[in-house]
Amino acid sequence: MRAAQLIEPGIVEVLDIPTPESGDAAVIRMETLGLCGTDLSIVAGKVPVEMPRVMGHEGLGTIEVAGSSGAFGVGQRVLINPGLFCEVCELCRRGYPNLCPNGGLLGREIDGLFADYASMDERQLLAVPDHVTADAAGVIQVLGTCVHAVSKAPVSPGETAVVLGLGVSGQLIAQLLAAKGAQVIGVTRSEWKRELALQHGATAAAAPEEAARVVAELSEGRGSDVVFEAVGTVQTFSQAIELAGSAAIVVFFGTTTGIGDGLPYYQLYYKELTLRNPRGATMADYEQAIALVASGVINGVPLISSRFGLDEVNHALAATQAPSTLKVLMELN
Ligand SMILES: [Zn+2]
Ligand SMILES: [Zn+2]
Repeated sequence: MRAAQLIEPGIVEVLDIPTPESGDAAVIRMETLGLCGTDLSIVAGKVPVEMPRVMGHEGLGTIEVAGSSGAFGVGQRVLINPGLFCEVCELCRRGYPNLCPNGGLLGREIDGLFADYASMDERQLLAVPDHVTADAAGVIQVLGTCVHAVSKAPVSPGETAVVLGLGVSGQLIAQLLAAKGAQVIGVTRSEWKRELALQHGATAAAAPEEAARVVAELSEGRGSDVVFEAVGTVQTFSQAIELAGSAAIVVFFGTTTGIGDGLPYYQLYYKELTLRNPRGATMADYEQAIALVASGVINGVPLISSRFGLDEVNHALAATQAPSTLKVLMELN
């Protein structure tokens, strides 16, 4: 079978490797694969991995050979939870399988999904209804992480919710918050991304320099009830804290590896803010993501910018890097 492998930092090649044998695990024929910034970081060598490594952590497909548990029959369409978890460690038992120290991410710690077939423990699989189109399904994995993030900051109808950064995750978070009845204010420099958010439930949208004024207007001067940062820079972390009202919850969804200062620490104290730093997603989050897409509450289709074949993985990676794109998929049919 074909598999897109990282050979050395910066070099990804589609090579022929043995198709997984049937065994305890299920064998899945991959259909739709998603790319994101994590793949770019791995290719660039910013996240060190053993090589060669089959890339990819976002994907769904159809069961070709059933696994030993009998949970999923041949022909069943499934999403793969790419976050491995052991179920027996202290964090797994406490309800944090997304933080399992014995786990890892497909395409990073172990071989991933950018291949014709993947062999997967059935514990990692979730059923996806047949009526969900490939494009709609292409955002479910990311949506799972957004569902996880939104669960950390409950909003009530009518409350204000700022989303800083309107890439794929920011757009999905905005849709999730709008579905909960929040007044969503999307913030980004990009006019077309603001327009897209407004078409899908956002109440208002603003460029970063206008954000404080728009938030003040919609919140009657109180500041936002919740703020989601979905960029991952110190500057946007700071702005998230500044746009928050007193007693607000600020969610840092974006990640940065930097340390150092630059945050308005006094405001954290003065407003008695709660900071949340969600990581990954649980099986329950993915279940919800599938239900939200299957029922049409969340529409990921307008976020799909381009589709490639597996052999075009390098074009797909280049497209993922382009600022003008949102979600990039590879379709294997
Ligand atoms: Zn991803
Ligand atoms: Zn564990």
